[in-house]
Amino acid sequence: MKKSVITIAVATTVGLGTIFGGVTVKTEAESISGLKGEQTKIQDQRSNLKADINSANDKINTLQSQQADVKSEKKRLDFAIDATTDKINDKTEKIKNTKAEVAKLQAEIKVIKERIQKRNVLLKERARSYQENGGMVSYLDVIMGSTSFNDFIDRANAVATIVQADQDILEQHEADKKELLEKQTRVETNLASLQKMLVDLKNMNQQLSAQKKEKEKLLASLKEQEEEAHEGMLDMQEREQILAAQEAAIKRSIQNERERQAREAAQAKSNPSKSGSSGSSSASSGSSVSSSAPKVSSGSFTRPAPGVITSGFGGRGGSFHYGFDIAKPGDNVPIVAAADGEVYVSHYSSSYGNVVYILHNINGQTYTTVYAHMRRSLVGAGATVKKGQQIGVMGNTGESRGQHLHFELYKGRWQYHAAINPSGIVPL
Ligand SMILES: [Zn+2]
Repeated sequence: MKKSVITIAVATTVGLGTIFGGVTVKTEAESISGLKGEQTKIQDQRSNLKADINSANDKINTLQSQQADVKSEKKRLDFAIDATTDKINDKTEKIKNTKAEVAKLQAEIKVIKERIQKRNVLLKERARSYQENGGMVSYLDVIMGSTSFNDFIDRANAVATIVQADQDILEQHEADKKELLEKQTRVETNLASLQKMLVDLKNMNQQLSAQKKEKEKLLASLKEQEEEAHEGMLDMQEREQILAAQEAAIKRSIQNERERQAREAAQAKSNPSKSGSSGSSSASSGSSVSSSAPKVSSGSFTRPAPGVITSGFGGRGGSFHYGFDIAKPGDNVPIVAAADGEVYVSHYSSSYGNVVYILHNINGQTYTTVYAHMRRSLVGAGATVKKGQQIGVMGNTGESRGQHLHFELYKGRWQYHAAINPSGIVPL
């Protein structure tokens, strides 16, 4: 499982003499003040955690508003890209039309050129025929052959008209050609500017797309940061829950201790010779252990589940494994308390799944054991359990791949990332 690293104050471990039988208490006042001191430390840890949770909340809010900003910038870029793409399509269409126009003009110019050429050929042929016939002789013949002055004028005019008409047509053709060439130049200039615009627009679109990609990258990173912050917060909330359960357990211990002291005081009154007796134990004997449960060891601790060790304590693929994994297939694989103690957490956690925390007092030393990924828990907070008593059924809940028990051992109370290697303490 993944956990963010947040340092929390290390609480001094104080044995809970009242919960566990056979532990002598130094003095009555000391035992309660010790518990109260421990309660204060847990309260400090809780308020620190709550402050961390608040700042994680602030961070999440900031990340969310940053994401909203980036999203609106991305939207703006999307609009800009759309607009530029429209312009690109428009310019591309215009270029296509302009090219068609150029082609049309070129065709028209070609026609005019051909006409000019034909007219030139015609004029040359006519000029040659004049020369062959002695220059303007034929014209003169035409004119001289006139029958009257009026006829002469008509004929002379007719000749002049023919010559003038040839020249006019030629000039008109040349003028048309000039105009068409000018038009072609204008259209080609227009085409060049359109092509330049298209290149600029395409560059702009590329830049906008690159900016959009940057925004997407930024958004993904912000999203990831937010997810991490969420994960960290869940983690802290879970730790806060465990500390709250610890505090509740201490309150119960203080209450038990007060009751015990009251009983002792009453006993001392009625029988002054007896004093300083040990605390009582209300633990019920173990029951409902399935036939497949491991044999209960004779020492202080016993194996918490049957099955094979699939992972030990220590480094594991770049991360640290804070416990032992014991796996066994089957619908009803029992998980038992590793030692006598008091259940103070029995809940569902997103990482540990159904999990039970038990506090033990072994010859004056406090230990905590944790049993994670249970299919279901059979004990609630406040329950007193005996070594080897079934507390749950092996499962695959929370962040678990395959049915197994993830078992952790702590010297003293549970502390974040403070689990110790159970080898040599718990028979595994
Ligand atoms: Zn594990």
